[in-house]
This record gives sequence, structure tokens and C-alpha cells, in this order.
Amino acid sequence: MQNANNVRTSALLASLGWLEHAFLPAGMAPPEEAACGHQRHSPTVVMSEAAFPRKQCEADGVIATGSRPVAVYTADCLPVLIADTRHHHVAAVHAGLKGALAGVLSQAVNRLCALGATRDSLFVAIGPAIAPCCYELGEDMLRTITANPRVTAPQWSSTQPVNPHAVRPQARATNQGIWFDLPALGQQMLLDMKIPAAQIEVLPVCTYCSAESQSSYRRNGHFSDGYALRYSWIQRRASSQP
Ligand SMILES: [Zn+2]
Repeated sequence: MQNANNVRTSALLASLGWLEHAFLPAGMAPPEEAACGHQRHSPTVVMSEAAFPRKQCEADGVIATGSRPVAVYTADCLPVLIADTRHHHVAAVHAGLKGALAGVLSQAVNRLCALGATRDSLFVAIGPAIAPCCYELGEDMLRTITANPRVTAPQWSSTQPVNPHAVRPQARATNQGIWFDLPALGQQMLLDMKIPAAQIEVLPVCTYCSAESQSSYRRNGHFSDGYALRYSWIQRRASSQP
């Protein structure tokens, strides 16, 4: 779902009445009180108390057990918002290719489960990120990916997929590589952790070719037309009773 200000939401998370969340467009500030780590493409996940004031610690995932919003910032990486319906805990995770391969998603899920969640109590939304229509990787990188034990069903294509929703030209091939599906990798990792498929939503928005302008780090690398961080946040409503 998307409003007039290009703020996107997940229908799945919106169906849970006890939380608020948003995938903000490039350049829009998150809630002032949001906790957020200094992101390093690491598997480190911390509690919200450690990540507020913002960026005071290094972390790529933040969990809140109270009503403080937690946020991540991305450009082409996966912004992943997680809600535990059992205890009304929430998490925001920055999962690029490097962080996903390092295990940041399993760290977040394991930490939520240590706090009382079960795999079937977790609802997850993967927000706008670079999609296979624009994400070219070299064969050497593909070999690194497929050798990673967390990667059980990599999805990629040797020909560039056409994105019918593109609002600007897709990335042009630069290195005779392959077109990798990063959102599908995140989804596969969540499914492998036994989170039910019906409780995972992937927003079909490519930061390079189909989100608002200045969303993509990679596009800026090709055209130097600028990029601004995209914040994604989630928060338990103060009034919620698990
Ligand atoms: Zn694209």
C-alpha cells in the first residue's frame, strides 16, 4: 500500500491492530524517538535501549519490547520489519546481501524467540529493495552466495527480467553477470526458519527502477543523480495488550 507521500505499508502488518509501521520514501525522517543502530552489514541485533539515541551503537537489527519505535535505513538492501503477535515485540532489520549471508535475519528471529516468540507467531514484511530487474552480480559473487550454507534456494536469472512496473529505465548490464533476486533470498531464509509463508509479505517495489527517485545507491553509482536514505520503522502501540 502507498499513500500520496510515497509512504508504503504492508497490508499484512497493517492487519495487526497493535502496531504501527512504515516504509518511508527516500529522504523522509523517521520518528524522532526511534531507536536505530549504526549499521555495518553485520549480523548484530540489539535491544532498543542500546540503540537510542540513534546510531550510538553498531547494529543492523533492533528489537523493542516496549513502545519505542525501531528503525533501519536502507538504499538497496532489504528493510525487514518483524512483529511477534505473542508478546507484541517488534524488530527492524537491515539485511543487504552481506548481512543476510552473515545471518542477521536468523539473529533477529532467534532473539525474538528467546524473548518468547514462536516461529508461527512472527509476521514479517520485506520492504522496497533492489529487485532482480536491476541487481546484476558477477559470476564470482554468485559462487560466493551459493557456497553459503544459509542459501538453500538461490533465485537468479542469466537474462535480465523485465519489470512491468518500472517508472524509469532498469539498470543496464555492465559486466555480463547474472540478475540476482535479493528479496527472494530474504524470503527463503525466513521460510527456512519455519516462519509460515502466509506470514511473510514482500513488497514488489524495486528501489532502482520503480520506487521514488533517489532511492537507489546503485542507481546513484551509475548516474550520480543522488540518493537519500530510506527509513523503515515499526512500533507497538502504547495501548496494546499482548
Ligand atoms: Zn528494478
